[in-house]
Amino acid sequence: MLGRFISQNNGGLRQTLGRNNGARVGAASRCQSSLSSSATAAADESADSVALGRPSPLRHRTRDGVPLRMLILGAPGAGKGTQSSRIRKHFDITAVSSGDVLRRNIAEQTPSGLLAKEAVARGDLVSDDLIVSLIESELGTIAGSWLLDGFPRTLPQAQALDSMLLATNQPLSTVVNLVVPEDTILNRIVERYVHVPSGRVYNLTYNPPRVPGVDDVTGEPLEHRPDDNPESFRRRLKQYHAVTEPLLEYYAAKGVLTSLAGPTSDVIFPQLYDYLDDKFE
Ligand code: ADP
Repeated sequence: MLGRFISQNNGGLRQTLGRNNGARVGAASRCQSSLSSSATAAADESADSVALGRPSPLRHRTRDGVPLRMLILGAPGAGKGTQSSRIRKHFDITAVSSGDVLRRNIAEQTPSGLLAKEAVARGDLVSDDLIVSLIESELGTIAGSWLLDGFPRTLPQAQALDSMLLATNQPLSTVVNLVVPEDTILNRIVERYVHVPSGRVYNLTYNPPRVPGVDDVTGEPLEHRPDDNPESFRRRLKQYHAVTEPLLEYYAAKGVLTSLAGPTSDVIFPQLYDYLDDKFE
């Protein structure tokens, strides 16, 4: 359905792809929900207590009783994934990362994954139709609060999302923009490793795995993302400034944009926590 919206909003775009990724994305969701396992919670607890400075129980209900629908924006490497995974431990919010969804489809060699593979490796954006279709499937499986990380990244994607949410009378609650200095980001990219099936992200300096090269929870190998190299990163950053940054104006004009700035994720997270704290009971 979202693909139809994007076609309406952007007549030149191709028809959306079929929905043959639903099963894969469902599997992806299950992997993500496994992040709330006690092993993961224990593994991350110390880092989060330091970041937050106080204990915090998982919060389920929003103050207005309506599920939270939130976007996290920011340059590549600004820490969107790190903040999403921390949010999930304090608030009952399902996080969907467009990059994780794509990487999983690529790893599983689904039709969408095969279509996306080269663009992702080069650091180019995949087509709006492709990513809109994948995100539509993903959101269709979520009943409660959710946050999107990495989507939308272009104006047609933002318009497609708006149309879909409008159709079900579920407008966005908030859009949070992470502002981090670019030299910090470049450093972070080079040191970043990921566990592809779950999307868990490690950093060799700030958040190293307990055993080098191995995921803390599953013991499976970690990968250095093929697009985490300086050349691909420069392309992604350029693309971000040209194509994604204009979304900030789009959401500011709608009155839903909040920017949070800091040199590290640890500095930004308490601000983000306080911001969400006001929205939950
Ligand atoms: P980063 O934020 O570090 O660039 P992501 O994991 O969000 O990493 O994205 C990795 C890659 O996946 C992007 O470089 C792009 O190729 C693709 N991608 C992710 N989200 C989108 C999107 N919304 N639209 C188009 N391509 C996307």
